[in-house]
Amino acid sequence: MTRTATAFLVGFAACGFLLATVAAKWSPTKPAPTLDVYYPGSESIASDEMRVVALGTGMPSPRPKQAAACWLVELGNGDKFLFDLGAGCHERLAAQKIPYDYIDKVFIGHLHVDHMGDLPSFWLGGTTMNRLTPLRVWGPSGHAPEYGTAHALDLMQQMYIWDIGTRGGVIDFRGGELEVTEFPFDGVNAVIYEENGVVIRSIPAVHGLDGAVSFILEWKGLKFVYGSDTIPNKWYVEHAKGADFAVHECFLPPPLLVTKQGFAPQEALMVGTQGHTSPEQFGKVMSLVKPRLAVGYHFFNDFDIEPEVRRRARKTYDGPLDLATDYMVWNVTKKEIRTRMSAIDEDIWPGPALKKKNPPDTSKVIPFSDFTKSGVLAFPEVVQPLFDEINEKYGTDIKPIFAE
Ligand SMILES: [Zn+2]
Ligand SMILES: [Zn+2]
Repeated sequence: MTRTATAFLVGFAACGFLLATVAAKWSPTKPAPTLDVYYPGSESIASDEMRVVALGTGMPSPRPKQAAACWLVELGNGDKFLFDLGAGCHERLAAQKIPYDYIDKVFIGHLHVDHMGDLPSFWLGGTTMNRLTPLRVWGPSGHAPEYGTAHALDLMQQMYIWDIGTRGGVIDFRGGELEVTEFPFDGVNAVIYEENGVVIRSIPAVHGLDGAVSFILEWKGLKFVYGSDTIPNKWYVEHAKGADFAVHECFLPPPLLVTKQGFAPQEALMVGTQGHTSPEQFGKVMSLVKPRLAVGYHFFNDFDIEPEVRRRARKTYDGPLDLATDYMVWNVTKKEIRTRMSAIDEDIWPGPALKKKNPPDTSKVIPFSDFTKSGVLAFPEVVQPLFDEINEKYGTDIKPIFAE
C-alpha cells in the first residue's frame, strides 16, 4: 500500500470515529448536548471558576438594549460582587435569578449617575425582593468630604426618608440597612476588601474630578480588573498587568460621537478623549497591560458601530478582545475564558429570603393623619375574607389596619 493510501485510510477511519461519537451525543428526542447560550440560574460555578456578567455596558442614559455601567462577578466560593450600579441595570440584575441575600456587596467606582443611578432602586426595591441582609457599599472619598461616597449615601438615605417611612412598620426591613465604607480615592493598589480568600484593591482613575477609582479583584490566582471610567493612566497600566480579565472603558470614537450621538465637534473631542477613552487609547492601554482578555465597554454597541470601534482599537492592540454588550457572560478559569450571550426570561420573580422573616416592627409605623384616614373606604366585607383566608391557611391572627 502506498503511503498516501495508508494516510487516506487512517484519516477515513478517524473521521468515521469522530462522526460516530458526535452522532452518539445528538438525539432527535433529547436535549442538544451543547448550548451556545447562558440561561441565568441554570449553571453551577466550579470551585476554581469566576463568572462575569455584563449588566450595563452603554452610555449614561440607558436604552432598552443597554443599561449604564454595572458588572457582576460571581466566584466559585459563593461570593458575588457588583461593580457599579448604573441607571437601568437593576432589571438586568434581577434577571440573573439570584436571591437578593446573595448580592450584598457593591463597589462604586465614582459617583456619576451612570455608575450609581440604580443604587436606590436596588437598595430599597430589594427589600421587597426578600433581601434581609444589609447592603454593603464601598466607594471612594472625594477632594472634600461632601464629594465622597459616605456623604452621598448619607444624603441618599435622607432623600428616601419617605420611602423608608412607609416600609419599616409593614415588612421585615433588615435588608434596608446600609453599611457604607468610604476609602481614600488616592490609594494605589490599596486593599479595601479582604474576606473569604478574596482581595479587592483600588487604584486611582482619572475621570471627572478627584474621587474616581478602578478596582482589582483577586481570588484563587484569578485577577479581574474593572476600570469603571478613566482616561488612560499609569496606575491602570501598571497594576492591571497580569489580569485574566481586564475591563476598561472604550468610548465611541469622536467622529461617531458627532454623527450618532449628536455631540458638537469640540464636545466629541473633549469628552471622547480627555474625559473618556477612545478605542485607539483603549487599545494602547491594553497593548501595555496584555491581559488574557481585554474587554471594552461604555458605548452603544450596535451591528454598524462595533466594527468601527474594533477597527480603531485594532490600530493599537492585537490581543484577545471582547467589546461588551449587556448580558454578555464569561466563564473564566485558568485554562479557558469562554464568552457567550445570555438568554433572558423577562417574567422574573424574586428568589426566597435566605433567613427566616421576622414580623414587622410595628413601633416603626408612622400613622396617617385623621384627614387621610377620613378618606379610607375599608370595604370590610371584601377585605376581612382575605385576612380570614390567610389566617386560616398559615395559622396567623393578623388584623386589618382599616377595619371600618
Ligand atoms: Zn463617569
Ligand atoms: Zn460612565
